Amino acid sequence: MPGDLSPSLPSTPAPLVDPFGRGITYLRVSVTDRCDFRCVYCMSEDMAFLPKRDLLTLEELDRICSVFVSQGVRKLRITGGEPLVRRDIMGLFRSLSRHLDAGTLDELTLTTNGSQLSRYATELASCGVKRVNVSIDTLDPDKFHRITRWGDLAKLMAGLDAAQRAGLKVKLNAVALKGVNEDEIETLLTWAHGRGMDLTLIEVMPLGEIDGQRIDQFLPLSLVRARLSQRFTLTEIDERTGGPARYVRVAETGGTLGFITPMTHNFCESCNRVRLTCTGQLFMCLGQEDAADLRAPVRASASDALLRSAIEEAIGRKPKGHDFVIDRRHARPALARHMSLTGG
Ligand code: SAM
Ligand code: SF4
Repeated sequence: MPGDLSPSLPSTPAPLVDPFGRGITYLRVSVTDRCDFRCVYCMSEDMAFLPKRDLLTLEELDRICSVFVSQGVRKLRITGGEPLVRRDIMGLFRSLSRHLDAGTLDELTLTTNGSQLSRYATELASCGVKRVNVSIDTLDPDKFHRITRWGDLAKLMAGLDAAQRAGLKVKLNAVALKGVNEDEIETLLTWAHGRGMDLTLIEVMPLGEIDGQRIDQFLPLSLVRARLSQRFTLTEIDERTGGPARYVRVAETGGTLGFITPMTHNFCESCNRVRLTCTGQLFMCLGQEDAADLRAPVRASASDALLRSAIEEAIGRKPKGHDFVIDRRHARPALARHMSLTGG
């Protein structure tokens, strides 16, 4: 399988720079919109998925990623939907790892719900993956089932064990949910740090229709942080990833805690990333509708010239920032598209 994907190595990187002078060095790729969970803040239980024929093939995904690498992208994050439910996904990891070997890519990583990690952790490590982000919103098995609707906490725990055994560094992501896990955040933090895993908290974002209302789920992280500060000593650290997360060191645990606060703060000025959907739409901003179609140029010609200029043209349209709002007057999601399409 690995040998089936495009073997061509990128030529000398020519970095992409957007109109605001931000260098684009990070590409997130959603390889499927499908998932084996139905998290309440992410999708409705009867979520309609895209027809399979609309998806890019693994070869096309590889080609697009490789052109980005040749244009100066140094970090690739594979996400979804649940990336590890896509058939033959390890072929893509194995193929993309050639850019790590060639020194043209610094990091190949993924965000996963962990349900398939016990099966794939060793293989991911052998493809040069060093770190994984795993989502976990609670340590209570019943609550986990209520949040994810279809998930099994025991499987996720086995996945975390397997990842750590395989030598992968694990970072946990938890969405802060009003009245659901807000009383558990301290426990989650101490547990994660006790196991040598960093934790990042995320504010609910208004992406795609769900069964309920996001205003009922939304918990501002400013409040969470104020509560945590009563029990822990939080010191700002200057760990910048170019994303919306800001980090603190927790003196009592020695671990790092991140806050992703797109709703209460907006850190767009340092944004270094773009996002590719599983159908080949390139979103220059998670919080805006504008996208460029890369599927047509990838399918139009075996040469990468069209694709290359479509990417350059798209980066030239990267907006300055997003304008998310969640309040009672904005009952509908700000954007119709779900996080599972663009990739979180
Ligand atoms: N399925 C994988 C997972 O859950 O980690 C990867 C894709 S998921 C869309 C990526 C991240 O986005 C997860 O940490 C998830 O909790 C978060 N997420 C999904 N929908 C969200 C929303 N509406 N607001 C904030 N975070 C969301
Ligand atoms: Fe699936 Fe991740 Fe969305 Fe949960 S957050 S439904 S695991 S894509």
